[in-house]
Amino acid sequence: MSTQNRIPVHEPEIGEEEIEAVVAALRRGEISGTFGQALPEFEEKFAAYCGCKHGIAVTNGTTALQMAVTAAGVGAGDEVLMSASTNIATALAAYYNNAVPVPVDSEPVTWNLDPSLIEELITPRTKAIIPVHLFGHPCAMDQIMEIATKYGLAVIEDCAESHGATLNDQMTGSFGGMGCFSFYANKVITTGEGGMVTTNDDRLAEKLRSLRNLCFGQPRFVHQEAGYNFRMTGYQAAMGLAQLGKIEQIIEQKRRIAQTYNTYLNDVPGVQTPAELPGVRNVYWMYAVSIEPEFGRSRDELADILREQGIDTRTFFCPMGQQPFLQEQAGYRDIPCPVADHLWESGFYLPSANSLDEGSIRRICDAIRDAGRF
Ligand SMILES: *Cc1c(COP(=O)(O)O)cnc(C)c1O
Repeated sequence: MSTQNRIPVHEPEIGEEEIEAVVAALRRGEISGTFGQALPEFEEKFAAYCGCKHGIAVTNGTTALQMAVTAAGVGAGDEVLMSASTNIATALAAYYNNAVPVPVDSEPVTWNLDPSLIEELITPRTKAIIPVHLFGHPCAMDQIMEIATKYGLAVIEDCAESHGATLNDQMTGSFGGMGCFSFYANKVITTGEGGMVTTNDDRLAEKLRSLRNLCFGQPRFVHQEAGYNFRMTGYQAAMGLAQLGKIEQIIEQKRRIAQTYNTYLNDVPGVQTPAELPGVRNVYWMYAVSIEPEFGRSRDELADILREQGIDTRTFFCPMGQQPFLQEQAGYRDIPCPVADHLWESGFYLPSANSLDEGSIRRICDAIRDAGRF
């Protein structure tokens, strides 16, 4: 096994623009986001990119989700429906608000939550739904919004993997009442750590700004409500602005990588490649595949073979229903999620760094094909 040409699942790309922007913000004294211009400018420009009126920058994607659930008025004992196959942060957003996360199983084509399963899970306690645009493919927002309207549920989109993804030319993050983004190191654009809540609702925007900054009241230091300190720094916002300037280029690279993988994996039996439904722009945050029985080896066996050849992979998320701490939560609902359970066994993502060249992709795909027993 050679270590010099190991292919990692992701490699952040930090350019001179980002370095200069951060240094310039520091020189202007933009230590906290509450001083200076970079933060309001980043919020305004990122929200506009998403087709939204307001952006509220926060410390990370997890806190964006937690704060959005609070702002939606979800509290103790309430239930929040969400994609079963997701980062634990989505479930924690409900958990930290003393609400119960309720998993909605995935559908087998896009791996997003299956909208046909939502209605039967709604109870009088259901207050909100969090669709997760997994790996950059938008959820079926038309159907989800219709159900939410019918039952009066808040919709909070988890857009941590879907910056710039569209459905019928509309950006993810602009369908529901709020959209929650992450700018973690491996996300579509990054500020190192960081997040944003987008909304078109003036009242929600005001509430989110207050929640982010400890809910200062009148007079200052008298608090009517429990807030959070989820403030982003000004120099992170400056980095975000530099990244935002390149976002379309970054997405083009991600789409090129996905197209190249698709071409080489197209005829490999038992490798399910990522979908792009009609009317969708998938941003392919990571190039994810599912290893189905026809491949002749399990996902874990294939991952081991690839690792021996210096090719890193990472599994899909462990579904919510299998999280021990959630099973112990009061009000826990044991909802069968066979598709999400299957994806936890069969799914992984392949190296997806933007710098990945065609030769490396070809090498990875050849290794996969050679490992198959079909
Ligand atoms: C990364 C991610 C989050 C959490 O974002 P952080 O910035 O890491 O806190 C939430 N949801 C999904 C789907 C994610 O991929």
